[in-house]
Amino acid sequence: MPTVQDKPNLNVFKEHESEVRSYCRSFPAVFTKAIGDKLWDQDGNEYIDFFAGAGALNYGHNHPKMKEKLLEYIKSDGITHGLDMATEAKEKFITKLQETILNPRNMKYKVMFPGPTGTNSVESALKLARKITGRETVMSFTNAFHGMTLGALSITGNQFKRHGAGVPLHNTVVMPFDEFMGEETDSVDYIERFLEDNGSGVSKPAAIILETVQGEGGINVASFAWIKRIEELCRKWDILLIIDDIQAGIGRTGSFFSFEPAGIEPDIICLSKSIGGYGLPFALTLFKPEHDIWEPGEHNGTFRGNNLAFVTATEALAFWEDDSLVKQVERKGEKVHQFLKSLVQKYPDLKGEVRGRGLMQGLVCHVEGLASTICCTAFEKGLIAETAGINDEVLKVMPPLNIDDEVLDKGLSILEESIKAVLKQ
Ligand SMILES: *Cc1c(COP(=O)(O)O)cnc(C)c1O
Repeated sequence: MPTVQDKPNLNVFKEHESEVRSYCRSFPAVFTKAIGDKLWDQDGNEYIDFFAGAGALNYGHNHPKMKEKLLEYIKSDGITHGLDMATEAKEKFITKLQETILNPRNMKYKVMFPGPTGTNSVESALKLARKITGRETVMSFTNAFHGMTLGALSITGNQFKRHGAGVPLHNTVVMPFDEFMGEETDSVDYIERFLEDNGSGVSKPAAIILETVQGEGGINVASFAWIKRIEELCRKWDILLIIDDIQAGIGRTGSFFSFEPAGIEPDIICLSKSIGGYGLPFALTLFKPEHDIWEPGEHNGTFRGNNLAFVTATEALAFWEDDSLVKQVERKGEKVHQFLKSLVQKYPDLKGEVRGRGLMQGLVCHVEGLASTICCTAFEKGLIAETAGINDEVLKVMPPLNIDDEVLDKGLSILEESIKAVLKQ
């Protein structure tokens, strides 16, 4: 993404923070404040948030109810750090998760706290799948993104990110995601050919891991039929099914879990990003009780009980006591989808295409560098949005799910103004 790195107020970061920094390059401002669907910078500029912390802020910034609960908890000297000791905050969260999410869906899962980030959840899922099956290989998909630690990186598609490992990334095999090879080729049949033929060179995997909508990989949406057939394949061949719902889950596509409309029952589910509700680091790994074969402490870590996140996560689950949020996401998602489609028609120079489910929408621009340039221009006009896809060819529209309708409209119109301005050049 082209950047405005010469802004003097970014000097401290430029001088002292590692070159590895990334989002501050795309959004060159020093932010001071955020409420709901908006952020403000040091110079008093206001920004509409179509980024939502890459999906970590589905309920917006500093939600007042979560903030209140958090402040109360801190004031009362509630436990902040306690490794994975039993705390009241944790007890309340586990209970609320059962009552609000798992029981109503008739889902029987054990919950594991793997460490605070998404990649921690993925690592624990991979380890567990290998331990259960005694097999080494894990099957993943083209353009998948599962995180930056070595196990998660080994099942991530992006060549640039993979190269960062500096060691061979072993024990994985990559298969084509839904429609990766065009609409004509059925990738489930393709995968099955490898499994059934002992000459294929592909050994039976411990697990298949997938995102139902690939976030970083470019808002690639798997059809419900494809997801269901992957599940059937897993059952037939006795392979575990892991759904990485770190970005697409927690209502981003509508339902709490993104896979609900596909009618599947994953063996293992990875959650992070918005599960904490408030943007605090938090991750979960859910698995069927019969898969809970861990020895005590076999997978351990210092920060596996973020009690502050337990408090906000418990409050966030109140959003799921009725279906109003689901309805909002459906309505707003449809609005964004139609708006993006109208842009594609109105501005043929975009060579555009629209992809997405719920409030996880993408405007694909089949012109090199165009989506990034539009994002930069949008930022200057007060809209924060990021790109996805291997060549940053997808402009991602991911506002907080509870974004105000007027703010959503305003953000969309800034997007159109930015497109107009960029295409004029
Ligand atoms: C963000 C993300 C991860 C990694 O989460 P981190 O907290 O960045 O480690 C894994 N999988 C998916 C689908 C993600 O979007």
